[in-house]
Amino acid sequence: MPKIVLIKNARVFAPEDLGVQDVLVAGEKISQLGEGLELPSELGETIDASGAWLIPGLVDSLVHIAGGGGEGGFASRTPELDPVEAFSSGVTTVVGVLGTDATTRTLNDLYGKFRALCEQGLSCYMHTGSYEFPVMTVTGSVRSDIVFMQNVIGVGELAISDHRSSQPRTEELVRVASDARVAGLLSGKKGVLSIHVGDGKGRLDPLFDALEHSDLPAEQFYPTHINRNRALLAQGIEFAKSGGYIDFTASTTDAILESGEVRASHALKLAIQAGVPVERIIMSSDGQGSLPDFCENGLLKSLDVASVASLFGELRRAVQEEGVSFVDALRSVTSNPATVLGLGGKGGIAAGLDADLSIVDPSNFEIRSVMARGNWQYLEGKCRDALGRFAQE
Ligand code: ZN
Repeated sequence: MPKIVLIKNARVFAPEDLGVQDVLVAGEKISQLGEGLELPSELGETIDASGAWLIPGLVDSLVHIAGGGGEGGFASRTPELDPVEAFSSGVTTVVGVLGTDATTRTLNDLYGKFRALCEQGLSCYMHTGSYEFPVMTVTGSVRSDIVFMQNVIGVGELAISDHRSSQPRTEELVRVASDARVAGLLSGKKGVLSIHVGDGKGRLDPLFDALEHSDLPAEQFYPTHINRNRALLAQGIEFAKSGGYIDFTASTTDAILESGEVRASHALKLAIQAGVPVERIIMSSDGQGSLPDFCENGLLKSLDVASVASLFGELRRAVQEEGVSFVDALRSVTSNPATVLGLGGKGGIAAGLDADLSIVDPSNFEIRSVMARGNWQYLEGKCRDALGRFAQE
């Protein structure tokens, strides 16, 4: 018999505000929403969440799960994702990518880590490829990776407008995007091309060129780091208003903000104010990626490691400091990425969807408990230990 849990009396954000509801979970799925649901104690566990909010598990659409860069030499290689960090910050779904370094880290490493995270209870997807062109693959082509590898949903993040990029030409970008698109059509996936946009002078121009010189729709591209500076944000807003999606990076440092980055939560507000339909805006963490700070002359000044925890941090900041509505901010980290990337069962609270849920205390905006595919992974502020038990008082 599947494990059954009834969460009672929480205010449910699905992400739209459904008011106070009871949510019944059976096995890995949400089976029912309603008022006055009851569960006999011999059938399962009932949690009273009166006064709390229930939100979907966050969908982090860009995480360097096997570590990202290391632009300060080998000793600066960033570490792999610890799933505890994801669960304790409300993230239950991640999309894993390689990054700057696809030389000492390979798609085989990425695949192994993706499988490990799945076994550890996280819902995990991955992109084939990396920053580089020609694109590295597992099976020999972008098309066959997406078609034959179950949770490979696209390709990237391919880098443009960055001194760390392979400087792909327009026709090369178009070719990769069209391979991903056709593979997606054949396999029932979105087949997006995730694009890392650097702080180079070209900004989004290569993308606009690719759209102008091909029959590809703007939705095929998923440009990230659009909050990197004001000029890029302005161009990104135009891209989103013309039918594309834009992704803001939540992880940052004081040094990066001082050098001109727009905080993700602030960028979210500016984009909404500028008239971008909210469903076209996503925030992702860039977790485990490197956060390098380069001098004007290209020399590395410092390097930090990005964290998946930044995603909930920017959700909170968007609401508390930027005045974005909770529902709009929540959509940017739940239903929007799930829809854009075609992650069925993710990013919402409704009967039939995966039971990925967080209980949030609205008085201090802290996460109390997190369930991933029907299992508590973080309970009343405690993580599981290596044996899968919750620490005792
Ligand atoms: Zn990137």
